[in-house]
Amino acid sequence: MIVLGIESSCDETGVGVVRWRDDRTCEQLADEVASSVAEHARFGGVVPEIASRAHLEAIRPTVRRALSAAGIDRPDAVAVTVGPGLAGALLVGVAAAKAYAAAWDLPLYAVNHLGGHVAVDTLEHGPMPPAVALLVSGGHTHLLRVDDLAEPIAELGSTVDDAAGEAFDKVARLLGMGYPGGPEIDRAARDGDPAAIAFPRGMTGPRDAPYDFSFSGLKTAVARYVEARRAAGDPISVADVAASFQEAVADVLTRKAMRAVADSGMDTLVLGGGATANSRIRALAEQRCAAAGITLRVPKPRLCTDNGVMIASYAAHLIAGGAIPSPLTVAADPALSVRIGQLD
Ligand code: ATP
Ligand code: MG
Ligand code: FE
Repeated sequence: MIVLGIESSCDETGVGVVRWRDDRTCEQLADEVASSVAEHARFGGVVPEIASRAHLEAIRPTVRRALSAAGIDRPDAVAVTVGPGLAGALLVGVAAAKAYAAAWDLPLYAVNHLGGHVAVDTLEHGPMPPAVALLVSGGHTHLLRVDDLAEPIAELGSTVDDAAGEAFDKVARLLGMGYPGGPEIDRAARDGDPAAIAFPRGMTGPRDAPYDFSFSGLKTAVARYVEARRAAGDPISVADVAASFQEAVADVLTRKAMRAVADSGMDTLVLGGGATANSRIRALAEQRCAAAGITLRVPKPRLCTDNGVMIASYAAHLIAGGAIPSPLTVAADPALSVRIGQLD
């Protein structure tokens, strides 16, 4: 079975094609992504109207490129991200997927974006054992419990305010860096001391929800630190601020993820989302997993950021698990819960 997946929840127009195999994994046949990230740079964040327009322009050429890369005229099923994400952006992918499904007379599967971030790991690392997943991107910070990719995914916790990637972008802006800020902070932090400034670890107190995150206090602490130094005329070490901020984020993310794995009695942690490209988040996750005897699975960066392959592979798992197709009347749901793998 060959599945074509369409992703348009944020600023990437992704179209991927996978072949489902009997060993419960997917083989990647095509992975085409058109990003509008450069168009959002001067606004310091994703502008929904610009993203929607860019999806509209990119969707058909990206589907064509994916079909040609996969060497097929049409797939056996069409999958699409139905949520969560930006309403206008999702709408473009969902409308396109319906049109292709109708024109090709193929079943449509309207699936959850977050499940895709987890399922994509099977392309590189094989069938997914029961696992805890930590998703960190510009729009999401979630700890999930995944017993079986074909079954509902449980949410253990999520951010109560900013997403981790969003915190990177906001702190980068404060330090005068460009957008997206994550890679620039990562680079600047290489020359800094992660212990130079004791920034707060949000929601790590004994009464705090163990799997929830908060990054807005950290962002404010960085802003206060920078303002105070500037007001006093003291020099600011951008490298030290970047390294100390990055350490605070990586520490909280991995500490909570380790606790979730231990509490759930599982022995596998999966990372996903664009911010897992961060070198310190990766290194700390590796170090802490190794110390605890936990298997860490991290997809390559290209598969961590939004793409169509993740949607195709998640849909393939759901289809193999007996999912029935979604109706052509299915509507995008910007706030779709991770528990709902597919709208049928
Ligand atoms: P979504 O939230 O729907 O997954 P998105 O476009 O916000 O979509 P991604 O494209 O997956 O998210 O990731 C982009 C985010 O990841 C940005 O916030 C960016 O700053 C952050 N990021 C990318 N590389 C790094 C890095 N090396 N260190 C920290 N953050 C990074
Ligand atoms: Mg993006
Ligand atoms: Fe995403």
